[in-house]
Amino acid sequence: MRKIDNHSNSLYRVGYVAIVGRPNVGKSTLMNSLLQQKLAIVSPKPQTTRHRVLGILNGEDHQIILLDTPGLMHPKYLLQEAMVKTVQTTMKEADLILMMVEPTDCDPDDEKLFHSLKAFPVPKFLIINKVDMVSKEKLLPLMDHFRVTGLFKEIVPISALKADGLDLLISLILNVLPQGEPFYPPDIVSDDPERFFVSEIIREQIFHHYGEEIPYATTVQIEAFEERPGRKDYIQASIIVEQNSQKGIIIGKGGQAIKRVGKVARENIEQFIGRPVFLDLQVRMKKKWRKDASMIRKLGYR
Ligand code: GDP
Ligand code: MG
Repeated sequence: MRKIDNHSNSLYRVGYVAIVGRPNVGKSTLMNSLLQQKLAIVSPKPQTTRHRVLGILNGEDHQIILLDTPGLMHPKYLLQEAMVKTVQTTMKEADLILMMVEPTDCDPDDEKLFHSLKAFPVPKFLIINKVDMVSKEKLLPLMDHFRVTGLFKEIVPISALKADGLDLLISLILNVLPQGEPFYPPDIVSDDPERFFVSEIIREQIFHHYGEEIPYATTVQIEAFEERPGRKDYIQASIIVEQNSQKGIIIGKGGQAIKRVGKVARENIEQFIGRPVFLDLQVRMKKKWRKDASMIRKLGYR
């Protein structure tokens, strides 16, 4: 007699889920909360995420491939244009779109943003995040308001930060994902290269350590990443700014500021890749890089 295969894949669900929405609504926080691992960088400042970040949530009978995206906005320069294009491409790849909003100062009549969703013929959920910040009385009318748009298959209030409502969200996601075989091996959490996460971790520290325009005028390029048997990995990274004055601010008096950034970034990188590293940071100036097409391509945008 043949053994009954308990691991039959007939009910296995797999698919791509794009998380989209305005800057700062908590998209990256949701991705990390669902994965129970910090993959995407998070900051209280808007527009921290500049690329789509892929994270894989593996379960017994499912593989949810989450795609975190940069915030939707009206682009002011080439980099932002590329970021918005990235969101659109990601939505095209998705089997399900999670449109995330905040309950506070969110505008349910934002026709433009929602109108753009109509172009994508896949199910869409409206995710109201940060419900830890509002009362139920405020939430219910808001949910009704979104319901009458008829755009969303589900309206799901959550708190990404407090991991509230996530089990329900996962089960609703599984209801709509296609059946199929896993796309990725079950033991990996992303297929984005280590290099990418290392540059993101450094960028995150720049968001945490510097104010105003600095983080936005900055990008990070990994120049060298060498695994050295018996020694620490060697990582050389350039912090690229737009003006010489910004270079001075990044470095700080006597190199103190960049030293602090380097220390925290190194610790976070070590935690992420699970090996000790030697992090060599340098600061370079590249005039108006955010408007420079070749630079934007170099940063991996197509
Ligand atoms: P993103 O730009 O949409 O990716 O937003 P982030 O994930 O970077 O989060 C922006 C800010 O909102 C951060 O300071 C988060 O800690 C905060 N945040 C995210 N989710 C929640 C939540 O559920 N509740 C509260 N109170 N804050 C949150
Ligand atoms: Mg983000």
